[in-house]
Amino acid sequence: MLNGKTAVVTGAAKGIGKAVAAAFAKEGCNIVLNYHSTLPDGVVSEIEAYGVKCLPVKGDVADFEFAASLVKDIKKEFGTLDVLVNNAGITRDMLLMRMSEEQFDQVINTNLKGTFNMIRHASSLMLKQRSGAIINMASVSGVTGNIGQANYAASKAGVIGLTKSAARELAQRGVTCNAVAPGFIETDMTDVLSDDVKEAMLNSIPLKRYGSVEDIASAVVFLAKNTYITGQVLNIDGGMVM
Ligand code: NAP
Repeated sequence: MLNGKTAVVTGAAKGIGKAVAAAFAKEGCNIVLNYHSTLPDGVVSEIEAYGVKCLPVKGDVADFEFAASLVKDIKKEFGTLDVLVNNAGITRDMLLMRMSEEQFDQVINTNLKGTFNMIRHASSLMLKQRSGAIINMASVSGVTGNIGQANYAASKAGVIGLTKSAARELAQRGVTCNAVAPGFIETDMTDVLSDDVKEAMLNSIPLKRYGSVEDIASAVVFLAKNTYITGQVLNIDGGMVM
């Protein structure tokens, strides 16, 4: 069902985004792989090994004009845009009382505005096609809040509100929009946390293990395949939030 379709994944040079891109490639999707600073050797060939095309595009999703040009390039290269995965995200953790304006703005601009920018441009193409699936990367922090993550939790709660609003607006033309809310997934983003924090996290996970990038990627593919789920937030967190 995804074979021959086009999927764009933002922030896909590593971590969850890379695994999501590989999972769609495995389904036969051509991949537009957005990356921000560097693209490690071998990422594109890893995707192409599934027998699909992979177009790497460098750029910042927080830039409205970049998002516009990315969608334009996808239309030119592949004709359609069938799946948009808004994965790009950052943390700038700090207690609220010490958080700088810059730390707040950076996180909101990348995580929330970046997601808006991509939906804003991709949805006009998907509405014309009368099909498409958008999956946004939220977080359990956006559902429950988290100490030291006022900026990040606000951005991800914003992503959830954006997801539900987009789902309502786009449904009339058969375009779905959902979010996944990962818990603690082993990537560079969580690698920087102290051992104490990691252990506390593990103790709060009923399934008693950290998540893998594949745990997230398989759920994102599931949501892209299902055309009757929209406006939902799927927690993928080993049972942390239930
Ligand atoms: P990661 O390994 O740090 O990867 C994040 C990716 O986003 C990087 O490739 C990064 O590129 C890219 N990125 C950052 N700013 C960008 C921008 N302005 N434009 C385009 N790309 C940008 O993190 P991850 O753990 O895979 O996280 C992926 C997503 O899952 C994020 O949205 C994150 O908030 C969410 N999430 C993760 C966890 C977790 O436990 N890991 C939990 C909940 C939610 P550069 O490094 O080149 O800047």
